[in-house]
Amino acid sequence: MTDERLREDHMTGAGRFAPSPSGDLHIGNLRTALLAWLFAQSSGRRFLMRVEDLDTRTNSAVAQRQLADLAAIGVRWDLPVMWQSDRTTAYGEVITSLDSRDLLYECYCSRKDIAQAPTAPHSPPGAYPGTCRELPESERKQRRAARPPALRLRTENSSFTVHDLIHGEYTGLVDDFVVRRGDGITAYNVAVVIDDQEQGVDQVVRGDDLLASAPRQAYLAALLGYPVPTYGHVPLVLNTAGARLAKRDGAVTLADLGADRAFALICDSLGYQAADAADLLSQFDSGRIPCEPWIYPG
Ligand code: GLU
Repeated sequence: MTDERLREDHMTGAGRFAPSPSGDLHIGNLRTALLAWLFAQSSGRRFLMRVEDLDTRTNSAVAQRQLADLAAIGVRWDLPVMWQSDRTTAYGEVITSLDSRDLLYECYCSRKDIAQAPTAPHSPPGAYPGTCRELPESERKQRRAARPPALRLRTENSSFTVHDLIHGEYTGLVDDFVVRRGDGITAYNVAVVIDDQEQGVDQVVRGDDLLASAPRQAYLAALLGYPVPTYGHVPLVLNTAGARLAKRDGAVTLADLGADRAFALICDSLGYQAADAADLLSQFDSGRIPCEPWIYPG
């Protein structure tokens, strides 16, 4: 591909779906993926796929099943799948660059330490209390020996506003979040930002359980000089008891339902009747997606 073609490709923008292969996708995940594809394609963007397999609990056979299930309901992607497990060097370079800007510090806190720490008077719930932010080197030495440290980003402990296609302007907490875990694995919030930049993603459509993470990710993107994508956090699918849909709720995977039935149920939940994904795309109006969670009839 010529440089010019590459630039042009980048300029068209892209949407993406980024499953974590920790289990089979259920109908709620498939619906989110189809929506991400519809949002991207209906706005003239490419659509890309990324397998978020950094965590050791993930599994490549599961990833292959997820990709096959997505293809079976008509989701198509334009380039080879990106696998996060291949991206360790790229993450390491960005973490080194943050470190050289003196924006990182080691943190020795366990979850329990954080839960039990006194919080600053105006800090929002869930914010890292800053325990390890200003420790002297002598103390760091001692603590390091006891526990492999995580690395945290030194932020202004403030908030950041993102634009969301469904939620409008959304302002959320940016605390000193983890960039590299104590086990050496790059944190989700960091890998996502680096990979979205690498893939030229400028539209992130995903489940609204991740809405609260968007300000941290957008803050980091801005800090790294990357363009901040537009977000669209779509409502989750709930079971009839009003809880987040899970596998134990019965026939919820493609293996249980079959691709045709799953596709028809998803279309119905969005207020469409369509023969296939191309037909759905030709009818799709991104301004008219239901803002309420879908209660899966089961
Ligand atoms: N891998 C994440 C998940 O499966 C999604 C990450 C994202 O879309 O930013 O929940």
